[in-house]
Amino acid sequence: MQLIGKILEKGKTAIVLVPEISLTPQMVERFIARFGEEKIALLHSKLSVGERYDEWKRIEKNEAQIVIGARSAIFAPVDNLGIIIIDEEHDASYKSDMTPKYNAKEIAFYLAKQNNIPLVLGSATPDLETYYRVSKEDGILTLKERANNSKLPNVEIIDMKKELALGNKSMLSIRLHEMIEKNIQNKKQTILFLNRRGYSTFVMCRDCGYTATCKKCNVSLTYHIRQNKLKCHYCGYERDNFTECPECKSKNIRYFGTGTQKLEAEINKVFPNATTIRMDIDTVSKKNSYEDILNKFKNENIDILIGTQMVVKGHHFPNVTLVRSYSSRQQYVYVRI
Ligand SMILES: [Zn+2]
Ligand SMILES: [Zn+2]
Repeated sequence: MQLIGKILEKGKTAIVLVPEISLTPQMVERFIARFGEEKIALLHSKLSVGERYDEWKRIEKNEAQIVIGARSAIFAPVDNLGIIIIDEEHDASYKSDMTPKYNAKEIAFYLAKQNNIPLVLGSATPDLETYYRVSKEDGILTLKERANNSKLPNVEIIDMKKELALGNKSMLSIRLHEMIEKNIQNKKQTILFLNRRGYSTFVMCRDCGYTATCKKCNVSLTYHIRQNKLKCHYCGYERDNFTECPECKSKNIRYFGTGTQKLEAEINKVFPNATTIRMDIDTVSKKNSYEDILNKFKNENIDILIGTQMVVKGHHFPNVTLVRSYSSRQQYVYVRI
């Protein structure tokens, strides 16, 4: 924002690209608060063709000097471009796989060179290609301190095999259980990240070993408890769940693996007084549901947000003090102090 401020003072314009999913009202509000609404044009997929045309015209007439948008905003008809900023530059959404195929980052490199202006690529986890390319030009700027001097979170890795040896068969380690409990008592919020949706990741017959798979994709079907369906997460194929093995007629059917639905059910059981909200493709369906869930989590001070990759974008929740991510054998517990 400071860079943009300087560019505007020189009478130039700025293009700011963000991943579609980060283009939330809260993010735009911060720009509006600093620069004023009339200076900003927004370009994203939720605009109607008419709205898009109006924004395009405002940019063309130089009524708006800051263009904020998803990847296609790189084509905005700005005059006197002074800077291009790409936030979360590693994000895959900058590449368009629709025809005409293009990579907004490549176009940004080209435009920056043509106009002899700075291109700022921001990321906590840079794309390897970008990192190499920028390091050759001696262009890496490292943030040595976190914003507002906040400290790095403490990270603890908990070995779930050892927990099992201690007799803890729960999905939650003893330490995580303690931390969540403490957070609920202190009215602090917790985010639990699990990169699998659904309830169980596969369903198997204990007698003959039959597992339900998608015939087209050759992957195991995930159990979704609410609809009592088995779904393929690749192609969307779904079928009814079974209680009797289709191969050997055994009723000894078991559920393996953990998805966000199961984690939510477990949390609701273990912490019956806590409020929870789940965010994954199954709960994010309506037009604005992604933002609705985040706003609800923030405004209603929901105790625990459970979700897939969607929850680990660069959100700003001052009241969140505990984050857990999960791999099959270990739990990573991030505690912010
Ligand atoms: Zn069987
Ligand atoms: Zn499939």
